[in-house]
Amino acid sequence: MTETYTFNFMKEVSSLLHAADGNPFPMCVQCGSCSGSCPVAAYMDYTPRQIIAMVNAGLKDQVLNSNTFWYCASCYQCSVRCPQGISITELMYALQRYSIWKSRYQEGLIGPSFSEAFAKTIVNAGRTFEPILAPSYIFRFKLREFFLEVQNATELMLKGRLPLLPPRIKRLDNFKRMIRKIIPIGGLA
Ligand code: SF4
Ligand code: SF4
Repeated sequence: MTETYTFNFMKEVSSLLHAADGNPFPMCVQCGSCSGSCPVAAYMDYTPRQIIAMVNAGLKDQVLNSNTFWYCASCYQCSVRCPQGISITELMYALQRYSIWKSRYQEGLIGPSFSEAFAKTIVNAGRTFEPILAPSYIFRFKLREFFLEVQNATELMLKGRLPLLPPRIKRLDNFKRMIRKIIPIGGLA
């Protein structure tokens, strides 16, 4: 029973990561180069090396309850330095997608609601729009951070760096048709 559970989690994450390549994780030799290269490892519940070992071990609950993949800054240092050529950054993205797909994430994290709002804005308008994204995270800030964020946004608006209306791309219908084809490939539909 445990084996089936383990296999399913690895397989699901693998299929999000490399639809055609099977499971890319067993070749991890746990050397720790990824964790040693990661600029935000100190803030993560588990380092990149640990999270790969946990995915391999099928520790689904612990992985999904961690902040690790939401704290990834997408710098790609880990992927560049991995001696086994593992796409750790892509694994972090895959775990984010999996987490949103299953609605399983650590309570209180900004990452999931921000990512969801970000994706919806892109799907609907083709571009991001900060005033729509802001409510997904700004109310979780402490009072001082909240006012700093509002002050920054106001200054940007006054300088014309933040539009008042959502920007729309040309040929939005074509873009939406393309997105409708892409989303199932990512395993989200
Ligand atoms: S650098 Fe690569 S091989 Fe080493 S622990 Fe990280 S993922 Fe595994
Ligand atoms: S891509 Fe993410 S996990 Fe990898 S080193 Fe950068 S921040 Fe860390």
